Amino acid sequence: MRIIVQKFGGTSVATAEGRQRAVRRVDQAVRDGYTPVVVVSAMGREGDPYATDTLIQLANAAYSDLAPREMDLLLSCGETISSVVMAADLRAEGLEAVALTGGQAGILTDDRFGNAQILEVNPAPMLERLRQGQVLVVAGFQGATESGEVTTLGRGGSDTTAAALGGALRAEVVEIYTDVDGVMTADPRLVPDARTLRVSSYDEIAQMAHSGAKVVHARAVEIAMQQRVPLRIRSTFSDGPGTLITFGPQAAGATWSELISNGPVTGITYVGGLAQVTLRNVREEQARVLFRSLADAGISIDLINFSPEGNSFCVAEGRADSALAILRGIGLDPVIRRGCAKASVVGSGMRGRPGVMATVVEALSGAGVTILQTADSHVTISCLVESTHLQRALIALHSAFGLGQLASA
Ligand code: ADP
Ligand code: MG
Repeated sequence: MRIIVQKFGGTSVATAEGRQRAVRRVDQAVRDGYTPVVVVSAMGREGDPYATDTLIQLANAAYSDLAPREMDLLLSCGETISSVVMAADLRAEGLEAVALTGGQAGILTDDRFGNAQILEVNPAPMLERLRQGQVLVVAGFQGATESGEVTTLGRGGSDTTAAALGGALRAEVVEIYTDVDGVMTADPRLVPDARTLRVSSYDEIAQMAHSGAKVVHARAVEIAMQQRVPLRIRSTFSDGPGTLITFGPQAAGATWSELISNGPVTGITYVGGLAQVTLRNVREEQARVLFRSLADAGISIDLINFSPEGNSFCVAEGRADSALAILRGIGLDPVIRRGCAKASVVGSGMRGRPGVMATVVEALSGAGVTILQTADSHVTISCLVESTHLQRALIALHSAFGLGQLASA
């Protein structure tokens, strides 16, 4: 059997028209001699009746004290509904489709409700059905514990489901269908001349995903890499090869000219909705408990800058008030700046290459964007900016590193 995993995101399955396009992709895979396994997300985005965000709002508005296991039971419904609807659409086209929950598909997780980790995928029940000619439609984003409790896998979880199934079933490829043509040099909603990457490496795309490119989830890319299964990100709505993610351009058969045209930067990413916290006069015993107290409250921090002159870091804006309360509780006097966003340039080509930071600073100052803070690793440089400057910052960086359509022509 040549197994292919095809995952359809929320916007792809939201409407009957989108699902028809998805059905055609599955049907084509069958015609091409593949045995498809379909993974679906919940239908639509915030505001749509069965979307995950809608279920979260339902819980928060009326039942804010739901136990984590019941919250997961509720949230998993979005994908379950979607799998049943999609299976029915496939049957209407004459395919013998069967809907499965994550647990029924053999996805075993730990019991960290809301952010469960996949421990194992038992491929046997799925392989048995596939041999009988069934097209499986698996509800993404969910699994089950050893004792049968339903769990969810955290944000972007359907991508993770697809990668994990691809690995367990030894699929030839995992296709992630979405509403853009592939992984692009920047989010096309903010940078109109963003270009689709034809091929890239797991490392690079995982890094872009970690620094905000939400087109594919980082954990899915990491699982695909561990399992050595290629990923292809492509559009449900238009034809095109999309982005192939594998061990590097060579592995994908890219030509030398495609390789050398790669500059230091592969893409520009962002994370919005941040608040910057600045602390002065932190005593040593306060420094010691500060991070632990935030961590114990489940508040993640980013862009951490600690020095004898002053200390700052960022938290999600939604957690800013809790962070402030905790910091005041240990006798600190935090200053907060809300309405911030982090813009990053990402690329394995910038390793050891001088001048990347210079280009970043020149591009941003040229666009009139104030840099509030920076952070870097060997493959990223991130700048904190005001949200109102974000789009301008992204466009300036994108053009400064020659990533636009014209640059590639
Ligand atoms: P799905 O519902 O299919 O999972 P997502 O909303 O999770 O879709 O991801 C697709 C969206 O990711 C696109 O609509 C686009 O706005 C956004 N996006 C952010 N960064 C990038 C990028 N670098 N390349 C492509 N899309 C991106
Ligand atoms: Mg997604």
